[in-house]
Formats: sequence, C-alpha cells, structure tokens
Amino acid sequence: MTDFAMTVGGAAVPGAGTFDVVDPATGEVFARAPDCGADRLDQAMAAARAAFPAWRRDERHRRDLLNEAARALEAAAGRLAPILTAEQGKPLKDARREIATAVTWLRYYAGLDVPREVSPDGSAEVIRRPLGVVAAITPWNFPIALAMWKIAPALRAGNTMVLKPSPYTPLTTLAMGEMLAPILPPGVLNVISGRDPLGALMTAHPAPRKISFTGSTATGKRVAAAAAEDLKRVTLELGGNDPAIILDDANPGQIADSLFWSAFANNGQICLAVKRVYAPERLYDDLVEALAVRARSVRVDAGTADGAQLGPINNRPQYERVAGLVGDALRHGAVAAAGGRPIDRPGYFYQPTVLSGATDGTRIVDEEQFGPALPVIAYRDLDQAVERANGTDYGLTASVWSPDLDRAARVAAELDCGQVSINAHGRGVRPDLPFGGHKRSGLGVENGLWGLYGHTDLQVLVGSQS
Ligand code: NAD
Repeated sequence: MTDFAMTVGGAAVPGAGTFDVVDPATGEVFARAPDCGADRLDQAMAAARAAFPAWRRDERHRRDLLNEAARALEAAAGRLAPILTAEQGKPLKDARREIATAVTWLRYYAGLDVPREVSPDGSAEVIRRPLGVVAAITPWNFPIALAMWKIAPALRAGNTMVLKPSPYTPLTTLAMGEMLAPILPPGVLNVISGRDPLGALMTAHPAPRKISFTGSTATGKRVAAAAAEDLKRVTLELGGNDPAIILDDANPGQIADSLFWSAFANNGQICLAVKRVYAPERLYDDLVEALAVRARSVRVDAGTADGAQLGPINNRPQYERVAGLVGDALRHGAVAAAGGRPIDRPGYFYQPTVLSGATDGTRIVDEEQFGPALPVIAYRDLDQAVERANGTDYGLTASVWSPDLDRAARVAAELDCGQVSINAHGRGVRPDLPFGGHKRSGLGVENGLWGLYGHTDLQVLVGSQS
C-alpha cells in the first residue's frame, strides 16, 4: 500500500516525503504515508480558512452534506475496514464496527436540532458562533471513530478543519479524507499526515482558533501550553486509569464476561477501559479465576484471521510498555492468574493477562497501562476502595458492580470522574451524551449538544427599537 494522499483544499496531494507504517500483526512496514511539510501545512490551514465564510453561512447545506458523508462512509466500510485492521491491528469485525460508529456520529450531528436561546424577557438572543479553523489531532486506538467525534460536531457547527491522525495509524483517515473530498466543499475538511512534530506545528500555527486533541495526558499538557500562547480554545480528551469497584453482594460468575470485555476490548487500548479492579476479599479468588478463565480462552490472532477476538498491540513502544509494566508487577509480588508474557510470534502479540496480588503503589495499578493486562486489587473496607479509586490524577470513567442499584449509586456519587456506569463500564459513551475527563483526564467534553457547543463562541445579540 503506497497510494495514500493527503486532502488539502479538496485535492489529493503528496507530502514533502513519506514515512513508514507498520502492520502490528507482522512488525513489518507495509505502507508509506505522506509526511506533510511546513509549506503544505500552511496550504491546508489557508484552505480551511478560505472555506470557512461560505461554510458557516448555510446550516441546512451542512446538515445535508453530513448525511451524504454518512452514506458514503457506510458504503465505503468494506474498503476501509481492511486498511484499519492492517495499520491498527484490530479484528476486521471491530474495524467495521468502528466505521459504523463514525457513521452513527455523522448522522447524529446531521439530525441534531440546536435550540434557539433567548433571554427570558425576549430582548436578547444568545448565539453560538462557529470559531473558524479547528485543528484536530487523534491517537491510534480508534483513528476513525475518534476523528469523527471531532469532524461531525465541528463541521455541523460551521467550522472547517485540518485533521492529523497518529503516525501509527494515518492510512484509514487519509483514505476517508479522499473519499469525502467530492462531497464536502474544498477546504472544509483537510487531512494531513506526519510524525509527532507535525502536531506541534499545528498547535503553534496562527490559523486555528481551536485545538481538539485526543491522546495522552503528557502530550495534552504540551498542546494546552502551545494553545495558551494565542488563547486558542482547546478540548483535551486524555488518558485514564479507570477503576471498577465490585461490591460484596456481586456475583463474580455473572459479571465476569462484561467486566472482562470492559477491560480487554480493543486489547485494552481504550482510554476508558477498566484499568484496575477493586474486589472485596470475600469474592476476590472467585473473581480473579472467573476473569482468568476468560483471558485464557480468548482467541488472539492477526486481525485478518477468522475468529480473532483480539489482535496485536498497536505499536512496539506500547507493546514494550505493557510488557514492562507486567514484568514490574510480577517482580513486586503480583501473580499472573492468566497470561503474563508476550506471545511467541512475529508482531506485537501479548497474552491477555490477569494479575492477582497487585496493590496500589505498583506501577501497573498507579499508571495507565493501555493494553491487555488487568490488575485485580483486594479490599476489605469499601470506603478505602473508593479512596484508592479516586487517588489518582486521572478521572475519566469508573464503574460500580452490585445487584443493589441504590447502594451502587451511592458509591458512584463518591467517584470523581466524567462518567460512572453501574453493572457495566462505559455505557454512557453515546453520541448524545457528553464525554470528558475530570482532573488530568481532560478539559472540556465531546459529543452531544455539549460537544457541538465546544466548537463555538457565544455572541449576545440585543435588539431595541431605533
Ligand atoms: P499521544 O499523545 O502520543 O499522541 C496523540 C496524537 O498527538 C498523535 O496524533 C501524535 O502524533 C500527536 N502529537 C504528539 N506530540 C504532539 C505535540 N507535541 N503536539 C501536538 N500533537 C502531538 O497518544 P497516543 O499514544 O496516540 O494515544 C494513547 C493515549 O490516548 C492514551 O493515553 C489514551 O488514554 C488516550 N486516549 C484518550 C481518549 C479520550 O477520549 N479521553 C481516547 C482515546 C485515547
């Protein structure tokens, strides 16, 4: 695969050079992506700026084109999914599901009615004005879905965009940009690719009025600092260390499936995946075993293989990080109830790993592992478990598991994060609900009306008789 182009001003354009893209199922380079130089970035920003005045004027047109984009993306899923699997590693059926998610988001924002806001006495209207050019930067775990969390609300609100995917997964986003080029007016959606420094060039560029960023907390801080220079608006969707708290009346056998997949879906490479489980001592052994049974039975294989449930970890640094965190936990007294090792084959395959005997203070409990390894931590006192769950700089999502919904809700109310699910995890990830992190998990929210408002500034229009 070598024929991927960037989309700038509606045209397919090359970069100043190319960079390699690795298939994580083999560890081999399988494609090259355009490496956008500074001049081309200027062109993309200029194209987005030029497209803005006309694009922001006609809301009906924007809604129609988002619907058309949804139809085109849906029709292209069969072509795009194998590219996504090749660069990201996820099983083909998950790649198709991710593209279907993006279609859902486009349709949601095309159909969303934005209420008119008028002061109670009718004398003033509060108008949500689009900002102008939005620079969007995405990570490698869900390149298409997370790009669409930005594209759909930003464009619907009347902004134009320059979008940069992760250098690990640039291809599907580039292909989507080319596919949407005949539908959207030139310059409305520009897709460029390059290595990490291109992201820094985007955040420092004078054209964007907003940076919409999804990625790690470390990079998010750099983005915020760069944006502060000229007061660009920012939305930051960052990392998490999401706890699941199991109450002592839960049934391990009943919750194990849902809990397992809440941690291991997409190979644990989900910002809101369950990253640590707090289990009461009474249920501890049964829960660890129920999770371990599932971990041992999962089919890990190349995303293209029939029946693969999990693919490889996306990239070598992440693979080494997961291996390092598991190794560290094992050296500090944790036991691998399942997994605990890389899988002996080319590519970045790692055994789904359930760790018992892990404690707070171990790196895999305290840090975001973002991979297929889950520590289960025993607790005696529920208040302490809640305190430990909150005892992190992250605050993305959490879950509480118990048949007693009132009791679970009381525990949920104590958790400092952007979303808490009961007897599930991440159930509130929907186009119509706000998604965002507390503390160092982010700033602002995406999705719903709130996500659209995040791409606007307020303007008060006050009328009076002359
Ligand atoms: P990352 O921060 O390394 O990279 C994210 C993006 O930022 C990439 O496109 C990268 O090229 C770009 N980038 C790198 N340096 C930059 C800079 N100085 N300025 C601007 N852009 C720069 O993150 P990653 O490893 O790709 O993704 C994994 C992380 O993303 C995890 O921490 C995960 O929790 C987080 N994440 C969060 C959410 C959420 O919604 N909260 C969703 C998915 C992933």
